[in-house]
Amino acid sequence: MNASQLDDFLALSRANPQFLAPFSETLPDGGQVQVWDTGVICIEPVVPASKDVVLSCGIHGNETAPIELCARLLADILSGRIVCRQRLLLIFGHPTAMNLGVREVEENLNRLFSGAHAKGDRQSMERQRAARLEQYVTRFFQHRDATERLHYDLHTAIRPSQYEQFAIYPFTHGAPYHKGQLAFLCDSGVDTILLAHGPTMTFSYFSAHQFAAHAFTVELGKVNAFGHNDASRVAKLENNLTQLLQTPGWQPPPLDLARIRVFKVCQEIIKQSEHFCFHFADTVANFTMFSPGTLLAQDGSRQWRAGDNAEAVIFPNAGVALQQRAALMVEAAELSADRLY
Ligand SMILES: [Zn+2]
Repeated sequence: MNASQLDDFLALSRANPQFLAPFSETLPDGGQVQVWDTGVICIEPVVPASKDVVLSCGIHGNETAPIELCARLLADILSGRIVCRQRLLLIFGHPTAMNLGVREVEENLNRLFSGAHAKGDRQSMERQRAARLEQYVTRFFQHRDATERLHYDLHTAIRPSQYEQFAIYPFTHGAPYHKGQLAFLCDSGVDTILLAHGPTMTFSYFSAHQFAAHAFTVELGKVNAFGHNDASRVAKLENNLTQLLQTPGWQPPPLDLARIRVFKVCQEIIKQSEHFCFHFADTVANFTMFSPGTLLAQDGSRQWRAGDNAEAVIFPNAGVALQQRAALMVEAAELSADRLY
């Protein structure tokens, strides 16, 4: 294969951040590697096993640890160190934002899926990218009726977290939660699970809702600059992803509910005006707890308080645009056996 073209796909994508003409090459084991666009590369094994896997990172351009993790996995696949037995779509989400070292250029890419990119008159770089990423995921999953569709959308948080690695389980519309996936996440070091309370415009909800994929937004710790991440902190997930891709039939140890911490969303705090403010320091860690009734935020005469149970704050950001979510409030939840399958 032409080592010069695919030697470093991430660098190639960052050198062509808007568009990359498709091309394909052959892997050492005879499989196909297909470049679909900048940041979008598909691995087609000679005889694919039963899972179709989407792995995405860099939907926010400055979330470098997952970008580096995916680049390492891809390098191992291209060199033949990992023989990828599952169909894989690897997505480096936002090369332009990566080049600028920013989370987003014009707006939050992870609020533009499930068609949100086409709503209203607004045009933006992120809207174009969301539309194209939806097409690629659709093309990938519709290629066949895989036994299992998976999508892990990897992120890092802006701020520290009481629980460093956590996953958001997109709204299931009442369907039960998947034991095998919770076991995979827990064994990968992602032992805190947040159950979403409604449809969202995130990439993971898109795959879950449109394609019945087991899809998750996975938060892997705090944002650092490229080259300043400690790979050992994501090693468990990296090892498990490697197992998933190269060993059909591999399974993590069975789920032990005592080892996972579960929260559910209880309220969203939406910024209404420029008078919006939090009643806690803007720098608090994710999952900081507040006692029942605590005043959390204020916007003119509107107040938000913790309800009858203690609530923890996630993703607080008073700087969001008007009508956007300034924080998500969650409370501890139980996952009883009848809600699992
Ligand atoms: Zn992110």
